[in-house]
Amino acid sequence: MCGVLGIQGEIQLAAAKSLLQLLVHRGQDASGLVWVDSYKVQKRSKAKGPPATIEIDDELALCVIGSTRYPTLGNRRGHVPKDKFAQPFSYQTKYGTLSLAHNGNITNMAEISEKEFQSDAELITELLGQKIDEEGSLELGLTAISRILDGAYSIVGILGNDLFCFRDPRAIRPLVFGKSGTHAVFASESICLQQAGVDVIEDVKPGELILVTPELKVTRKQLAVPENISHCFFEYVYFASSVSDLEGRNVYATRLQLGAELASELKGIDVDYIVPVPDTSKAACETISEKLDIPLREAIMKNRSSMRTFIMPGLDERERAAKSKYLFVDRFIRGKRLLIVDDSIVRGFTTMFLIKILKERGAKEVHVAITCPPQRYACYYGVDFGTDRELIARNDTPVERIREMIGADSLTYLSISSLKKVLKTESLCTACIDGNYPTPNGKTIRLRILKGEMDDRTTHYEVPKMK
Ligand code: SF4
Repeated sequence: MCGVLGIQGEIQLAAAKSLLQLLVHRGQDASGLVWVDSYKVQKRSKAKGPPATIEIDDELALCVIGSTRYPTLGNRRGHVPKDKFAQPFSYQTKYGTLSLAHNGNITNMAEISEKEFQSDAELITELLGQKIDEEGSLELGLTAISRILDGAYSIVGILGNDLFCFRDPRAIRPLVFGKSGTHAVFASESICLQQAGVDVIEDVKPGELILVTPELKVTRKQLAVPENISHCFFEYVYFASSVSDLEGRNVYATRLQLGAELASELKGIDVDYIVPVPDTSKAACETISEKLDIPLREAIMKNRSSMRTFIMPGLDERERAAKSKYLFVDRFIRGKRLLIVDDSIVRGFTTMFLIKILKERGAKEVHVAITCPPQRYACYYGVDFGTDRELIARNDTPVERIREMIGADSLTYLSISSLKKVLKTESLCTACIDGNYPTPNGKTIRLRILKGEMDDRTTHYEVPKMK
């Protein structure tokens, strides 16, 4: 997952950097800004860490795009400096410099290029630049690449001095747009626009181009026919900020509802406290606590000096981070029966670790409830579980077996029907829980794995060798 931002209209670069920092929960592995300066020249600065670490002079920008990166495709083993993967990337076209950042993941990189790219964002930039030159316009270039790319891509870019965005025809990753009298803003999440003082916010439509000139003239065009619209459900459950609205639904309100549904599925739970695993499950705990009439206690607290484990690449780093990520309030643990609530169990490491620590600290029972169904299949669209083999619930592992593995006294997952009831739409990607991949190449990869023609390990984690 990554976060992207685009602003047309005069802004101090430090202010743009602060707005990008609001998307740091979407990734903090690398980040970057490209801006048009007051001489109408594109400039750039990239960092090996979150947006706050980007080095800039606080100059005035006329237009700016930014990215905060979470590693999925691309080098994960650390032998190439992280800022090599930092977006935005740039390409010189006949019509000016193209700079681009995207959120998502392209599944057919190996099929569409013989060149070895460090990341799919670099490939999209070069491919779009070439198509703009061949076809004669940004519009035709984007139309051409939308016919070639398979996967999830929410793009923000600058061509010359114009700002634009484009969302893939299935709208898998979020992208919002808003305009005030002085600025137009695109972002992965509405939190940035709210903070920028842009009140009227709308979702970019599937397959839509929005272009904003320096004079703030807005052109909107449907370039690709929306098909099989598939918003990632995991954005609501885990990734997006609670503050944000996605597709007209507030994330915090959605998490409250997920908790209410989960409460009705919890059978025979008799505990002293409901305990959120910070921070995403706090909202769900509020409604579980209300529905079951059991007090909520924050017996597990986040160590604010630590980074989010799930978005740290490499198991060793995760293991180290998990140990420093949480702090515990023993008064609400020792001798108590606890129900801990989390948004998901991906690899199981964090849940296993928490249960072990809570029991070591004297908890009598530790029950677990999850606001999401078991994730049994890899994500090919930009979330950091690109292979089945890394998932604790892979191969239809029974819930009872998962409970044993994590050492919980009971384990309850939200059902798929309750998830869909809360999200009130069929336009969802639920591939990681039901194996129904929304894109043609996603379906092909799954079929080839089932037939044994493709090794699970080569689908995503390792960048396939380019032809
Ligand atoms: Fe989201 Fe899961 Fe689909 Fe990936 S596979 S886009 S995590 S719903």
